[in-house]
Amino acid sequence: MDDDPADATDRRLREAICAAGRRLGARGLISAGEGNLSLRLGGGRLLTTPTGRRKDELVPGDLPTAALDPLAGPAPMGPPPSSDLAIHRAIYATRPDVVAVVHAHLPASMALTLAGEVPDPTALPETAHHLPVLPFVPFAAMGSEELAGRVGDAFTATTPKALAVVLERHGAIAVGTGDGVGDATELEAALTAAVDRLELVEVLCRTTRDALLLRGARSRSV
Ligand SMILES: [Zn+2]
Repeated sequence: MDDDPADATDRRLREAICAAGRRLGARGLISAGEGNLSLRLGGGRLLTTPTGRRKDELVPGDLPTAALDPLAGPAPMGPPPSSDLAIHRAIYATRPDVVAVVHAHLPASMALTLAGEVPDPTALPETAHHLPVLPFVPFAAMGSEELAGRVGDAFTATTPKALAVVLERHGAIAVGTGDGVGDATELEAALTAAVDRLELVEVLCRTTRDALLLRGARSRSV
């Protein structure tokens, strides 16, 4: 039925976002309606997840498109998009190399930052290699332009530029970069890389949390 290459590409990208949502759910990285994912499309648009829905139970027809620039882009299509859409737009605006954005309320990252701790990616060899910088973004209200602005700044403020950031009490955001081809294969790979990076952030935060707990237990036992 997908004789039109544009339709086939659209279908592939929608399937990729649904599969990434299922992966986040299977890993315990999203609960209820939390989290959101998007891909940069051509024509000044992005493909994203709808608000208020479980991201591990989506089907391709559930995904809305929206303009990258809300003041100048094409009209949105589909159900209402994520309440964190402003964050995605801010990242795409400040990072032309980014083609995929994934956000989840990672449980261990929220616990650590709730306790006033900031994870250090250089503490583990895996994160030191894949996420050498991991900016910390101070709390701002979910869905606010203030938060979107801080996230956009965090993704451009360091050298090398960040591929993930930790939000105070609000999980993390990871991105996937493209090679400039802009085809479905590139976008699928970027989305997978972004989910991989979110998983690494959560492993770092769980490991840091466990180390702090073990050190605390040891100091109490002597
Ligand atoms: Zn959120």
